[in-house]
Amino acid sequence: MAVVSYKCPNCDGPLVFRPRENDFYCDFCQSRFNKSEVEAGNSGAAETVSAAPKTQITEDAELFEKEAVTYSCPSCGAEIITAESTAATQCYYCHNPVILSGKLSREFRPDRLIPFAISKDEAIKRFKDFCAKKRMLPKEFLTEGTFESVTGVYYPYYIVDAKIFGQATAKSKTTRTWIAGNFQYTEISDYRHERKGDLDVEGIAVSAYKDGDRNLLKYVCPFDESKSVDFAMMYLSGFQAEKRQLGKADLYGEIEKKLRDIAENQFKGSINAGGAITSFEMKINDLKDHWEYFLFPLWVMTYNYRGKLYRYAINGQTGKLYGELPVDKLKLFTTAAVSALAVLAAILIYGGFAA
Ligand SMILES: [Zn+2]
Ligand SMILES: [Zn+2]
Repeated sequence: MAVVSYKCPNCDGPLVFRPRENDFYCDFCQSRFNKSEVEAGNSGAAETVSAAPKTQITEDAELFEKEAVTYSCPSCGAEIITAESTAATQCYYCHNPVILSGKLSREFRPDRLIPFAISKDEAIKRFKDFCAKKRMLPKEFLTEGTFESVTGVYYPYYIVDAKIFGQATAKSKTTRTWIAGNFQYTEISDYRHERKGDLDVEGIAVSAYKDGDRNLLKYVCPFDESKSVDFAMMYLSGFQAEKRQLGKADLYGEIEKKLRDIAENQFKGSINAGGAITSFEMKINDLKDHWEYFLFPLWVMTYNYRGKLYRYAINGQTGKLYGELPVDKLKLFTTAAVSALAVLAAILIYGGFAA
């Protein structure tokens, strides 16, 4: 089964995960369910992937990959069109949440997921509060239509923990000068510092998504991993989800550099040189790294202003916001002109006093 919809056990309506209530909700009969109730009521659906015999999964996934060109909605039969990486979305016709389960199977199945904690309304409110403080925004930006595009998306990340065994050698120099009698004395001391040790690094997040704005995915971090749960397909119900496009091999260089930087900072920080460090050498003797594939929740909004597409994201767990806002050129110009006038006025007043 390649396409999955989670159905209400009472009325067969579509179920959607609600962040604030932490439950699964049916809009048709207003029933709410917890995770195990949904599992029990949807025993024929996606999570059977893990319960079914292994050979079955592989065949299913392979078949799916071969036929992964079109999917049809389990509710209305309409064709579902998505980007290659999209794993959960909404049917364009009947608006029911659908999950393309095959895209998150086998090596693409996430280890863990952080469920949304911030609801869409709350995300919109945070975004409006942020905009309210920006005076250069074009007036039309803050209309309700802008916020219609706010979408909850699960993006792929890796969380890397590492143990580094390393050593460092540094040299430093201090100079002391004093006068006694008719002589000036200068004392130069050379120091050699040796450091050796283990370093535990935890929770480095790196985006496993290639398309779109990688900065967006970087700057909404950090996420609190301690609130994560084992991955279950049903959390995606009502949201969009993207599978990873980059693997460990693609990201290893970036992570290794980050780990080296962290180790270097730690070693340097431990040297109380009392003067300038003149040389520093570090050697990593061993590096043990552990990678976990996560889906992180983001509220994403796009806005088209004068032909340029602006993208914003709000961390769906903490509410941290990142994005570039459009600037109304006319407003900017007026403000600049006003401040230029203010400066001129200040000069005139000052000139008046001086005369
Ligand atoms: Zn129902
Ligand atoms: Zn449909």
